[in-house]
Amino acid sequence: MQNLILPLKEIAFNLYWSWNPEVVEIFNEINQDFWNWSGHNPVKFLNLMNEEYLHHAIEKKHLGERILNVYNDFHNYLNKKKYFEEKYYSPDSPLIAYFSAEFGLTECMKIYSGGLGVLSGDHLKSSSDLGLPLVGIGLAYNHGYFSQLINKQGWQTENYELNDFKNLPIYLLRDDKFNPIQIEIQFPNSIVTVQAWVVHIGNIKLYLLDTSLPENRVEDRRITDILYGGDNEKRISQEIILGIGGIRLLDKLGYDIKAFHLNEGHSAFLCFERIRRYMKKHNVSFTEAKSICYYSNIFTTHTPVPAGIDIFSQDLFVKYFKDYAEKEIGIKVEELFHEGDLTKNNPENNKFNMAFLAINNSNFINGVSRLHADTSRKMWMLPDTRSQIEYITNGIHTQSYLSGYSNAVYSRYFGNDYEFDEKIWKHIDEIPDDDIWAMRIMNKLKLIEFCRERIRQKWIQQGADKIKLKEVTGILNPKALTIGFARRFATYKRGNLIFRNLERLKKLTSSSERPVQFIFSGKAHPKDEGGKNLISEIISYTRDPDLKNKIIFLDNYDIDVAKNLVEGCDVWLNNPRRPLEASGTSGMKVIANGGLNLSISDGWWDEAYSPENGWKIDSIINDKVSLDERDNFEANSLYDNLEKNIIPLFFTRNSSDIPELWIKLIKSSIKNLAGYFNTGRMVREYCDKFYMKVK
Ligand SMILES: *Cc1c(COP(=O)(O)O)cnc(C)c1O
Repeated sequence: MQNLILPLKEIAFNLYWSWNPEVVEIFNEINQDFWNWSGHNPVKFLNLMNEEYLHHAIEKKHLGERILNVYNDFHNYLNKKKYFEEKYYSPDSPLIAYFSAEFGLTECMKIYSGGLGVLSGDHLKSSSDLGLPLVGIGLAYNHGYFSQLINKQGWQTENYELNDFKNLPIYLLRDDKFNPIQIEIQFPNSIVTVQAWVVHIGNIKLYLLDTSLPENRVEDRRITDILYGGDNEKRISQEIILGIGGIRLLDKLGYDIKAFHLNEGHSAFLCFERIRRYMKKHNVSFTEAKSICYYSNIFTTHTPVPAGIDIFSQDLFVKYFKDYAEKEIGIKVEELFHEGDLTKNNPENNKFNMAFLAINNSNFINGVSRLHADTSRKMWMLPDTRSQIEYITNGIHTQSYLSGYSNAVYSRYFGNDYEFDEKIWKHIDEIPDDDIWAMRIMNKLKLIEFCRERIRQKWIQQGADKIKLKEVTGILNPKALTIGFARRFATYKRGNLIFRNLERLKKLTSSSERPVQFIFSGKAHPKDEGGKNLISEIISYTRDPDLKNKIIFLDNYDIDVAKNLVEGCDVWLNNPRRPLEASGTSGMKVIANGGLNLSISDGWWDEAYSPENGWKIDSIINDKVSLDERDNFEANSLYDNLEKNIIPLFFTRNSSDIPELWIKLIKSSIKNLAGYFNTGRMVREYCDKFYMKVK
């Protein structure tokens, strides 16, 4: 028999598998329990599974041909001519470097916390689809972001699991002689050595910088330990590794990068390092070098609130940059410090702002939705001489969030190789209502199974007996209108808005003819008491006898939970305080799965909403109205929408029990939105508006 383990291993080491449902299905069929145990990690799966068993399972389940087929698909994918090559040309080495503090690629790589990371991950996936000559730079967090467990008291607890790099789809970066490639950075009291791991995402490489080396001091090894943890000193150290270390690595690899994309301000120290190198190479002044490097930096801002931005004290900045400024660049550290200020040379200023550093050094600045760019302009009051803030609205990597059932339906009508662009979705009306409805039912059943199994596992861990475990079958109702709310529990996202009028909510959930149910999920930042209180409040509602089994909370929101939710929910709820949601992307993930959006007109929905695409929750945008009054008004609009529009539409059925008007809405939402709100369009926009404009 042919050795099928080698092609499987090759597939496992490229995250292409994370958006190919057939690969995941093959691992599931080899051994589902082991696949789940591995945390959906094919490298761990293959490394730790008994090889004889593996051969046996492949043979017994006749998986050989399917493995060879996906192996061929994989290579065809890598080799086919793509957008960039057709429109521009095909360079030998990457031209664009994309820097981000987090990357959300797949659930087993815990180096992301939420939306920003998932967006970075999707940016890389779409760059691969489009054949863009781009590399990613990030950090290899040894512990990553926390896993969430809600304890019996209903309180979030955090657990930092080790990212076992030896059993992940990544390689240590080595040179021709197999020695690890390393770079060094001078810190105040030590020289920190940095190594890098490489992740393959289709044709794209992502380099993750790592300081956990035996030659480093113990405290230096911990710089790249966890994501968004620790104090400001830890933060500035991480950002030095990311920005300065990232540039040094690209240089060491010999890449001639033309455009540098700063996804959020965490990587902005790269501006200093680029200037320093340019000065040295061309023997020019700081100001001259700065004015040139400026043209090839692009800064994407993601937060409309000043509190969301990294700010360092002058003392801390001087501690880390005095030697760098004076010995390595040859200017006073004060001069470098002013780069982190918008009103330069203001003697009162004693704070260094990473976003301002990025703004001062980027020719192109963009927000992530139309409304967010407006908000950012107002927030920063940029001087007229500075380039304006434009917008490129966020998207999602559609294929990564499409359920197996949805994919099967689209393949049946559009062919196996259909592309996720506007053209294809225009044909959505050609799919009969029955098939769309069957897809909805299957997606929802899968979600309900997923929820029940999660809760069953949790109960088992808590020592539940057999009788208790039987209760899981009573959780959620496949016939009910299912509404999802899952995102970070930041207070501005108002996870508890639907509970504002408990009586009105209970009326909806207790109807037996027109049942409605809700699924919640999300993590609060470990230091955000407000967010944790919101979670605890929702947990207490899930224990209310009237709401039990109709309102549930899933622990540990991650890409896996997100995927299941966006596949299965009928309606996706989003009710942030306008205009604080920069874009929001989870609502985009439901579209092609046939879910519909009910949202405040904020972020992307401010652009996407029309009565043909979903529903809008009315909001008050007036600072004179108290927050309490605004919440009441907006909660009422939410209930009104559900009572008058959404529930009647969902439960009005034809003689075959199909809600024709509901499906009409699904189809127009797909037709109007799916082709635009995706990272294929988004990355093309970055390419046309910026990357390819750099000389
Ligand atoms: C998509 C996604 C997000 C972002 O959702 P928002 O709507 O922007 O809040 C966060 N976390 C995970 C795991 C996701 O998949």
